[in-house]
Amino acid sequence: LSDRLSGVFDKLTKRGALTESDVAEAMREVRRSLIEADVALDVVRDFTDRVRAKAIGQEVLRSVTPGHMVVKIVNDELIRTLGSEAAPIDLHASPPVAILMAGLQGSGKTTTTAKIAWRLTNRDKKKVLMASLDTRRPAAQEQLRVLGEQTGVATLPIVAGQGPLQIAKRAMEAARLGGYDVVILDTAGRTTLDEELMTEVAEVRDATQPHEILLVLDSLTGQDAVNTAKAFDSRLGITGTVLTRADGDGRGGAALSMRAVTGKPIKLLGTGEKWDALEDFDPERVAGRILGMGDIVGLVEKAAQTIDVEKAKSIAQKMKKGEFDLEDLSEQLKQMEKIGGMGGVLGMLPGMGKMKAQLNAANLDDSIVKRQRAIISSMTPKERRHPKVLDAKRKRRIAAGSGTRVEDVNKLVKMHRQMADMMRAMGKNKGMMARMFGMG
Ligand code: GDP
Ligand code: MG
Repeated sequence: LSDRLSGVFDKLTKRGALTESDVAEAMREVRRSLIEADVALDVVRDFTDRVRAKAIGQEVLRSVTPGHMVVKIVNDELIRTLGSEAAPIDLHASPPVAILMAGLQGSGKTTTTAKIAWRLTNRDKKKVLMASLDTRRPAAQEQLRVLGEQTGVATLPIVAGQGPLQIAKRAMEAARLGGYDVVILDTAGRTTLDEELMTEVAEVRDATQPHEILLVLDSLTGQDAVNTAKAFDSRLGITGTVLTRADGDGRGGAALSMRAVTGKPIKLLGTGEKWDALEDFDPERVAGRILGMGDIVGLVEKAAQTIDVEKAKSIAQKMKKGEFDLEDLSEQLKQMEKIGGMGGVLGMLPGMGKMKAQLNAANLDDSIVKRQRAIISSMTPKERRHPKVLDAKRKRRIAAGSGTRVEDVNKLVKMHRQMADMMRAMGKNKGMMARMFGMG
């Protein structure tokens, strides 16, 4: 074990400071994650360029460890790009405030109309009127009427033979007369970006002067999101987007793409078919999803909090002088335990998967770390400072006290000796030592 362990430590030190090529390797991993999440290629390129520029240089070197910092930079930039400020629906206008819903067919416009109406009615105590301008699909107006009944929100009575513009004007008039706070206009779908239909929506916009023009976008559309968002925004001037099917398998690449292309805020997320399945957009969660690395950032942040920098510094000092004793080893093991095991943290870092495999091969798992700490805590302070005094009798006592075998005690002592030797040798190289403990 200890041979393999020292091999790992050797690699760790060599790995310590992130060089340009280390950053490049991490970025390759990030790039792959973005492409897998279906982020448009142009957006991926811009994004990785930006992060690379930030990662190479000072910011990386001042962090807990360089590897942690790269991940943090990637995540922070992702959140920044997605929009870090909350963007609620803006109703600051004289009532009735019109909200125009636009988007491709099947993106979820009608469902989202009902969701927003339900929320504004029940949470914000607004008086809401919904109107379907979809005269293309035969049952579309009926669909909204049924949703209105289910959610308890008023819908504009259906009048046969009217076109979208007429319905829109009627809706605004009915809202004025009826004292409504909000009118939500649900427009007709289009399967592709169609100029005729786009003109139709533009006319409705001009006639109703909506305060919000929301583009409803299916999270699962991935790459196409860019073209859709560009076309709708340049033609209609959207005020924000709603991403539906955030409950699906999609990894949220569409969110990043459309946000990067339009610069307009993502206001809401649709997370299901029911009318209460609407959430405020949470850039942190979507960022985590796009990176597809689980709770990678949470772990990094936890590591940054729990690693006691002062203690690590004093250990590094002792090591340099060749005074690394079992007390210090125990402290090191404790830090490792706190951050969920060394393998856990390393495995979270892009490009570090290989090293995690090596650690697993070295059997450096949590139960072993726990056992090693138990052994050390069964020693007297004197034994910890001067392991040389450990004779057969003392070892038997320690094994019994920690519920281990003498063999385990021997292994630990040997591992410590090898580490101490190695560290004394490395102590001559000051920079390397500092980096190993993340204080470069
Ligand atoms: P429209 O053509 O844009 O009006 O789309 P619809 O509102 O009629 O929705 C099309 C389908 O998508 C319906 O079956 C909805 O139930 C479903 N849908 C809409 N939003 C969501 C969502 O956020 N999650 C899931 N799982 N399904 C949704
Ligand atoms: Mg519809």
